[in-house]
Amino acid sequence: QRRALAATATGPGTTADGVSVPLLLNIGEGDARAAAAHDSEGVGLLRTEFLFLDQTEPPTREEQTASYVELFSAFAGRPLTVRTLDAGSDKPLAFVPMGAEDNPALGVRGYRTARLHRELLVDQLAAIAAATKETGADIRVMAPMVSTPKEAREFAELARSQGVTRVGVMIEVPAAALLADRLLNEVDFVSIGTNDLAQYTMAVDRTLGSLPDLLDPWQPALLSLIGTAGRAGDHLGVPVGVCGEAAADPLLALVLVGLGATSLSMSAPALPGVRHALSRHTLDECRRLAHLALAAAGAEQAREAVRSAAHTDT
Ligand code: PEP
Ligand code: MG
Repeated sequence: QRRALAATATGPGTTADGVSVPLLLNIGEGDARAAAAHDSEGVGLLRTEFLFLDQTEPPTREEQTASYVELFSAFAGRPLTVRTLDAGSDKPLAFVPMGAEDNPALGVRGYRTARLHRELLVDQLAAIAAATKETGADIRVMAPMVSTPKEAREFAELARSQGVTRVGVMIEVPAAALLADRLLNEVDFVSIGTNDLAQYTMAVDRTLGSLPDLLDPWQPALLSLIGTAGRAGDHLGVPVGVCGEAAADPLLALVLVGLGATSLSMSAPALPGVRHALSRHTLDECRRLAHLALAAAGAEQAREAVRSAAHTDT
């Protein structure tokens, strides 16, 4: 058993039957070179808010381009997915006034910010495109908090008009998951943000500590929405990543792959455990585990059903 662990502690993410599931990093502020030293196949989520935090004015295109060049160079040769500014709600920014809102999580946030401050998004997209050109890096760009196929189309058109070639959106709102088949027609890839998708599916503020059982990512209702997006991706041949915290739980990662996730993005410490769990299960086994979880009455039952059916050293 120890030998199996050692053999799968590094390298690309692969199921026991050889299906590739890239294991990617979630990164934000911090040292890009240190992040790049981890054994990941790239970056599945670059949270760009750090470039904008603690500023009284937004960074210029040139300042942003310089930051992106540094980041992209650190990951040269590996794909990197940049998320455009996710301002508002739990990520408020001083220079992006949203107006008074009683329910900021249901207000102008994420991609919706572009309705009020389109120039912020245009500048960011132009800076990302310029840095991509300068470094020759493999860059994909996605928008957070997209709710409709129309928003996905608008974002894709705007991003392409600024020189971005690979465009995606996050699925973080139940509406987006439910219409994933139509949403996926507009973009090159999607990435599921399970933190927000859990918040909006279960109607629980993600910053609350008092209702953890409802925010549990094993909730079958959440898994069902992920499965809807996974099926749409499979049908259309569009990659469906997962970049929320759920991907960091080795057992749940197996379920996500069984539901159709084609890549998993997480913080660095989670990589070895997920890599090992994946190496011990075939894709069909992951699908069987996903069925067990989907059929469960609640989060606890889903977790227990999968725990007892998965290989014991997961
Ligand atoms: C998510 O919502 O799952 C996500 C990955 O984005 P963030 O946590 O930054 O909102
Ligand atoms: Mg989110």
